[in-house]
Amino acid sequence: MRPVTYLLADDVEGAVRTVTADPDTHFLAGGTTEVDLLRQNVLTPHRLVDINRLPLTGIEALPDGGVRIGALARMSEVAEDRGVRERFPMISRALELGASAQLRHMASMGGNMMQKVRCGYYRDGESPCNKRLPGSGCAALTGVSRTHAVLGTSEHCIATHPSDVAVPLVALDARIHTRIHTRTGDGERDHAIGDFFLEPGDTPDREHPLAHGELITAIEVPGLPIARRSLYLKVRDRESYEFALVSVAAAVDMVDGVIGDVRLALGGVGTRPWRAIRAEEFLIGAPAIPENFEQAARIELSDARTTAMNAFKPELARRTLVRALETLTRDGSQR
Ligand SMILES: Cc1cc2nc3c(=O)[nH]c(=O)nc-3n(C[C@H](O)[C@H](O)[C@H](O)COP(=O)(O)OP(=O)(O)OC[C@H]3O[C@@H](n4cnc5c(N)ncnc54)[C@H](O)[C@@H]3O)c2cc1C
Repeated sequence: MRPVTYLLADDVEGAVRTVTADPDTHFLAGGTTEVDLLRQNVLTPHRLVDINRLPLTGIEALPDGGVRIGALARMSEVAEDRGVRERFPMISRALELGASAQLRHMASMGGNMMQKVRCGYYRDGESPCNKRLPGSGCAALTGVSRTHAVLGTSEHCIATHPSDVAVPLVALDARIHTRIHTRTGDGERDHAIGDFFLEPGDTPDREHPLAHGELITAIEVPGLPIARRSLYLKVRDRESYEFALVSVAAAVDMVDGVIGDVRLALGGVGTRPWRAIRAEEFLIGAPAIPENFEQAARIELSDARTTAMNAFKPELARRTLVRALETLTRDGSQR
């Protein structure tokens, strides 16, 4: 057994400085990822800085109709928040469909953005895995890969990004606010979520642009009227307590049967939460008819690269995307 020192942080600056100063010190929020992986020797911190006392809770409505979600707000609180339910149904639904009730009470929104992949070869702590041990290889390429990614993969890693709520957050252009300590002092940064989750490329161990010790303080979702009419569809092997095989976050604004604006993102198929930009571009200005939904989905998935075990995913993603669009546009004209 490895000893781990535990520190309870009282202030944001102190927590950030302590973690920044030592690569073997990690933040601890709900612990639902960190403690699991520590027990399995996948993460090996010498010290944990518990951030649960920091003033990073709260869900605040913004004047533009958006919402600012504290990094320590729990998944269940955000899912149940009235403003989030009304203005961003896709966010509250993605949260409700994640993990289990107990986990949602523990797990924080900041921790959710930082959760690790569910690839069995990463998590067993022993198999070749370029994400866990750069240069060691990727056992999933020739191994069990039924749940692995088909978009944004590289020859070094095909692990799927696991977060549900990150999918609608990507569709809505959320921003991630952080606190950082550098040689020149303490400061704040603000990351567009579209740049936050990195594709594996040649450096699968690098999953986001944060410096070690940079603390997520809040997630801000802009006020987008289109999000009021949105949904999150999740397809998985069993009805609860399971990660997505495919998921879709979708919002549509339609006038007289023509799509004026659309937001689409896919989960379960990409190495990052996948904004379906090409499908969006095809659909804007197009009649809201099944043939166009099919074509948009085909365009988005045309670059999918599959293994023998996950060859079903592009077709499942295509059908789920079409179903989401049909559901949102079913009553013909919205305004
Ligand atoms: C059995 C199981 C099923 C699950 N199913 C789902 C699912 O269906 N859908 C889904 O989306 N998720 C699922 N999850 C993942 C779960 O949502 C995450 O484990 C959780 O959100 C992580 O939050 P946490 O507060 O527990 O983070 P922690 O475990 O405390 O931290 C996770 C990582 O983030 C870092 N960290 C934490 N907070 C911050 C911060 N503010 N700034 C910077 N770094 C930080 C920590 O150092 C650590 O490395 C599941 C987890 C389990 C165990």
